[in-house]
Amino acid sequence: GVAPHYPRYRPNILITGTPGTGKTTTSEMAAEATGLTHINVGDLVKAKSLHEGLDTEFNSYILDDDKLIDEMEEVVRPGGNIVDFHSCDIFPERWFDLVIVLRTDNGVLYPRLEGRGYNSKKINENMECEIMQVVLEEARDSYAEEIVVELQSNSLEEMEENVSRIKAWVEQWLKDNSN
Ligand code: ADP
Ligand code: MN
Repeated sequence: GVAPHYPRYRPNILITGTPGTGKTTTSEMAAEATGLTHINVGDLVKAKSLHEGLDTEFNSYILDDDKLIDEMEEVVRPGGNIVDFHSCDIFPERWFDLVIVLRTDNGVLYPRLEGRGYNSKKINENMECEIMQVVLEEARDSYAEEIVVELQSNSLEEMEENVSRIKAWVEQWLKDNSN
């Protein structure tokens, strides 16, 4: 059913991007800097079995979208979360005040994915995803353009810059939405 809109006293931020672009690291740092709660959706899917089994070809879980949304709704509704996931079109549009799409150059992303021990099929699939800007286009198709922000995530310096931007954005949101 359609859930009614509730006021939020703190914002919800979605941090999305191709695997390896730095979502989890950035989310952890941003949560620390802002006091918002980091929700690692991939971990949640595994922990609560919000999937329909393993896709053996890509060694990844087949999501149960409805179960996942139901599981997250109560936590996300009041605000105050940083949601970390590689896909963004499964969530209700109304959940988020800011959608960050992390981007990484090919030459930087490839060794990160290798470092994770992904097989070559999975590496190639993720490289193609990043080259084709799949997540960025998904975000632009799913959310208002003024809330979608693309940020480069190639170096620690850029990551720290991104965290500072998120912190400043949260502070501004709290000012704009007080009283
Ligand atoms: P994701 O959650 O998007 O898959 P992670 O945050 O797990 O990505 O990062 C993958 C790896 O790349 C980690 O080892 C992390 O330390 C490194 N990494 C991610 N972003 C950056 C960055 N901007 N600069 C340097 N290393 C990074
Ligand atoms: Mn991650």
